[in-house]
Amino acid sequence: MERPSGLEEALGALAANPEATLLAGGTDLMVEVNYHSRRPEHVIALRRVEELRQWEGTRLGAGVTFRRIEQGPVRALAQLARTVGSPQIRAAGTIGGNLGTASPAGDSHPFLAACDAHIELQSKRGTRTVLWNEFLVGVKRTSCADDELITAVILPDQLPPRQEFAKIGVRSAMVIATVSACVMVDDDGRARVALGAVGPTVLRARRAEEMINAESVKSEAALAEFGRLVSEEVKPITDHRSTEEYRRHAAGVLSRRLLERCLAA
Ligand SMILES: Cc1cc2nc3c(=O)[nH]c(=O)nc-3n(C[C@H](O)[C@H](O)[C@H](O)COP(=O)(O)OP(=O)(O)OC[C@H]3O[C@@H](n4cnc5c(N)ncnc54)[C@H](O)[C@@H]3O)c2cc1C
Repeated sequence: MERPSGLEEALGALAANPEATLLAGGTDLMVEVNYHSRRPEHVIALRRVEELRQWEGTRLGAGVTFRRIEQGPVRALAQLARTVGSPQIRAAGTIGGNLGTASPAGDSHPFLAACDAHIELQSKRGTRTVLWNEFLVGVKRTSCADDELITAVILPDQLPPRQEFAKIGVRSAMVIATVSACVMVDDDGRARVALGAVGPTVLRARRAEEMINAESVKSEAALAEFGRLVSEEVKPITDHRSTEEYRRHAAGVLSRRLLERCLAA
């Protein structure tokens, strides 16, 4: 195992061995190793790479843990961080690892989609920044090249002031989301809604957004239609955690509830 102590060293190690497996907090990777017999031959551990742990303004380093995020100033980010695993998982698990795993149920994803965050990727070849939906491209698939590191999440300069995240699962703690949602409302009243665990990747319910943003008064009928459109737009599957039908229903109810909370704030 290599333990680079700085970003340049980490990028060099990855350039020399693009097949290497990156290890951040290990809360996903070690599950793979322990339960699914994944046997990475060459591991690059990122924990000593100080640059990845920096959080300055809108630039959130990939190595920032959910423990720090839950204590941070961004409302919906803190809300989602509090739902991740247990205190032990939050102490080790990072936002970069959550993106690297690219699970459809990754709890940071609805927030990143709702605020149109960018993902910064670095390699010895240079730095590029891609929008969330150019990064998350399928179930456990990203557009990160083998020689690239996720170095940071770049938030927009102005985050919508009203923002809410919540997830539904089979119990209220230590649970993978059956449905997760993040709703944001801008200063000018425009709403955005992003849903997790109801498609191959996180998605924005654009028709629901357009409909509600065209309504100057958010009447009962408009809110009901918003929820209905979200239920229609999501693309869930039936699996061991839930049915497609329940996920559609829950996505609509959850989105409407979060929108109502934002509007009341
Ligand atoms: C008990 C338990 C409960 C959990 N609960 C939740 C939950 O509620 N919500 C949730 O979303 N997740 C949950 N998880 C999953 C996991 O904790 C998160 O996905 C976490 O963010 C992973 O981060 P990590 O630093 O531990 O990643 P690691 O396990 O170290 O890495 C995960 C993947 O990302 C890659 N990677 C890591 N860092 C980088 C980087 N900088 N650049 C490129 N690739 C990188 C790794 O190579 C690996 O493929 C849970 C896991 C466990 C074991």
